[in-house]
Amino acid sequence: MAKEPMLKFVNVSRAMPEKRDAENRKGDFLEIYGDFISDKAEEQASRCSQCGVPYCQSHCPLHNNIPDWLRLTASGRLKEAYEVSQETNAFPEICGRICPQDRLCEGNCVIEQSGHGTVTIGTVEKYITDTAWENGWVELIKPSTERTETVGIIGSGPGGIAAADRLRRAGLQVTVYERSDRAGGLLTYGIPGFKLEKDVVMRRIEQLEKSGVEFVLNCNIGEDITFDALREKHDAVLIATGVYKSRDLQGPGAGSEGIVRALDYLTASNKVSFGDKVTEFENGELNAAGKKVVVIGGGDTAMDCVRTAIRQGATSVKCLYRRDRANMPGSQRETQNAEEEGVEFVWLSAPKGFAGNPVSGVMVQKMRLGVPDASGRQSPEVIEGADYVEDADLVIKALGFEPEELPKLWNAEGLEVTRWGTVLADFKTHETKLPGVYACGDIQRGASLVVWAIRDGREAADAIVEQVNAAASVAAE
Ligand SMILES: Cc1cc2nc3c(=O)[nH]c(=O)nc-3n(C[C@H](O)[C@H](O)[C@H](O)COP(=O)(O)OP(=O)(O)OC[C@H]3O[C@@H](n4cnc5c(N)ncnc54)[C@H](O)[C@@H]3O)c2cc1C
Ligand code: SF4
Repeated sequence: MAKEPMLKFVNVSRAMPEKRDAENRKGDFLEIYGDFISDKAEEQASRCSQCGVPYCQSHCPLHNNIPDWLRLTASGRLKEAYEVSQETNAFPEICGRICPQDRLCEGNCVIEQSGHGTVTIGTVEKYITDTAWENGWVELIKPSTERTETVGIIGSGPGGIAAADRLRRAGLQVTVYERSDRAGGLLTYGIPGFKLEKDVVMRRIEQLEKSGVEFVLNCNIGEDITFDALREKHDAVLIATGVYKSRDLQGPGAGSEGIVRALDYLTASNKVSFGDKVTEFENGELNAAGKKVVVIGGGDTAMDCVRTAIRQGATSVKCLYRRDRANMPGSQRETQNAEEEGVEFVWLSAPKGFAGNPVSGVMVQKMRLGVPDASGRQSPEVIEGADYVEDADLVIKALGFEPEELPKLWNAEGLEVTRWGTVLADFKTHETKLPGVYACGDIQRGASLVVWAIRDGREAADAIVEQVNAAASVAAE
């Protein structure tokens, strides 16, 4: 697999002279925001004051037992730290890499709150489980009893595979249906490799396969197999399909060549990093090399696009967002990373149209923030007479995602959706209005986070196990 280029390096010999060679597990260089060596992890972990009011834990969607695994790490008991960590999280090394910790555990660390800088919880979590993999402590799932009941999971993103992990542990037979050519959902084809290395995702998929989970790839439910046939085949079905309908832009020139969707752009880049031949990358359509790139949007997807474009060798990368920095939805940490890498943010700016075909520029309207709307957010208002053209030969639309119309696509009568188009399901059990059909992750809660999809998958799996247990005891009576 091709290695992602790393932009910012710190030479270990300069940063930590006394630690060079013997203890540096990954070579001569460490990425500033990435890996660190063992006793640095222990040092970080020992900064935890064991405050007794673990806001970090209550602000982690999985309620990870953070204070305990920090304490174990601080005393060098990494195997035990791993055991505690994996009790509540099926994929700790993934969350450690890509959770927006500044909004979750770390943002609520009392040391951070008192102005002394957070314990870097995510990086310690990643370190513990990476070490567990290196030492062979991550074992295959071996259920104590094999059961005959089967579960069909539609979608192999974090929600689907977290449920698969839990269901296999309970001994159920699990098949995951995935329309893409690789499993992993947005972990594989959405999130870029410089944030989440693809071998980290693939080794988890392999572990599940070797533990008995069957993956059926290139299988689009609704097309290759009907939803009804799937319900017939399995004792329970879990919908974990994510949200994939990209929000679009209107205005003159919106259909011009050179204006592309964020997910197409990121998927192409990820496929290339797997070593795949991607025609649209090779012919330049989905490749930022040598181009003036403008990304439209202010969320995490936009941040991934700008940072990917920098790595591909764009001549300039600008991010257009209609509100200001304080009101952008993306992580502040990612925005800062992007700025340090050379991305220019053009705040309070919205696209009005596009010049040229192929595109040569974005017609920009300048905005100001007006009075707050019903949600309390200030609405952007156009400043008349301040329009200008921003040069661009690649425009990437990163405006967010909505659910596909599943009931219509699947001819699934009785599968109810909310007014946002997400599948309507109980928030605790995740059961939909169709008996034996469950939903989890983005397709239930709307575009969200990996850690929430993992939690939903776990809860849905527990409810499915309860359902099959209840059915088994009725049958036994
Ligand atoms: C570019 C990008 C970057 C992100 N970065 C982060 C981040 O850094 N940190 C974070 O926490 N979150 C991030 N997110 C959000 C996060 O990826 C999602 O919240 C999470 O992946 C949702 O998991 P899921 O299992 O619900 O769905 P997905 O990961 O979307 O997986 C759904 C799977 O279902 C498959 N599928 C859909 N329909 C069918 C069908 N009919 N038949 C068969 N298979 C089907 C899809 O192909 C896909 O593989 C990011 C999202 C994007 C778009
Ligand atoms: S899962 Fe995410 S929020 Fe929870 S401890 Fe890990 S990094 Fe923090």
